[in-house]
Amino acid sequence: MILSQLPRFHLSIFTKPPSSSLSSPHFNFLNHRSNPPVSLARTIFSFAPKSNLATVEPIPLPVVSDSSDMDEAPVEISLDKLFIPPETDISGDDPSSLTARILKGSNIVLSRYARDAQVAQADYVKSSVRTEDCPADGLPEFALVGRSNVGKSSLLNSLVRRKRLALTSKKPGKTQCINHFRINDNWYLVDLPGYGYASAPHELKQDWNTFTKDYFLNRSTLVSVFLLVDASIPPKQIDLDYASWLGQNQVPMTMVFTKCDKRKKKKNGGKRPEENIKEFQDLIQGFFETTPPWIMTSSVTNQGRDEILLHMAQLRNYWLKH
Ligand code: GDP
Repeated sequence: MILSQLPRFHLSIFTKPPSSSLSSPHFNFLNHRSNPPVSLARTIFSFAPKSNLATVEPIPLPVVSDSSDMDEAPVEISLDKLFIPPETDISGDDPSSLTARILKGSNIVLSRYARDAQVAQADYVKSSVRTEDCPADGLPEFALVGRSNVGKSSLLNSLVRRKRLALTSKKPGKTQCINHFRINDNWYLVDLPGYGYASAPHELKQDWNTFTKDYFLNRSTLVSVFLLVDASIPPKQIDLDYASWLGQNQVPMTMVFTKCDKRKKKKNGGKRPEENIKEFQDLIQGFFETTPPWIMTSSVTNQGRDEILLHMAQLRNYWLKH
């Protein structure tokens, strides 16, 4: 097992990924397009079973956001909680080279598939009410989902560097739809209905659940769900339930912690974003065989923007090749 061969050391993931990774040569992945069956799509991102990692002693990794508050102690994660993409070997890395391969403010190690991450073009394509009505061109896609008000539209706009693109899916009649945005003419960002809106009638909420669950289970081109969780507040049961459901159903998931710029302790229940994130991680630990990827973001400072795009690129390029 790769991880058990590593020497014990302390790592910092303060370091930005190499800047060249965002501008690496074009990879003609349309020629490699394939549509793995859903079952394959679910398994290609799974790694060693948890039991193999049990022998690895936790190694503290300080994680920081863009905070300028130097008094704050960094949150620690252990080496066995890193997300190591498939076909990625970190056993030859010394501490500094491994540090450089971890995306800032995340547990995600970069693989050789992390390329072609820029967004040059973004177009609204369609809103569908059923999975069967979604685009049928076989392009890979990433679905953004989260509680209403979590910052989903803001993140979508920030990812595509357009101030109002996500407004399309906020128009009347489209808030309950699967909204497809085509990126660079070769992959999709998908905006799903927000859940847990306090004043939505119970029956309507149930409908949204059935509707999005069907999409998660049956959309063969879905590479990964990006579950948005507000890091400025303590974990909410509804988000934990969502993460649990995705874990139980083996739907590939990345957790995106939003609003990481909000650091006013009193206003936000006395905890820093890093503390809320750690608590969330601890609470969902049992739902997954291996630690899912997670990343800290802010649509105000654009923290995590390039990192999310690199992570999407590595998942997408791997998916296309298999
Ligand atoms: P949605 O309902 O999930 O689409 O959420 P929106 O993107 O509409 O954002 C909901 C509210 O949160 C708005 O008032 C945004 O200005 C605010 N917001 C969104 N993202 C951030 C963020 O990263 N930091 C802060 N401080 N506020 C945010």
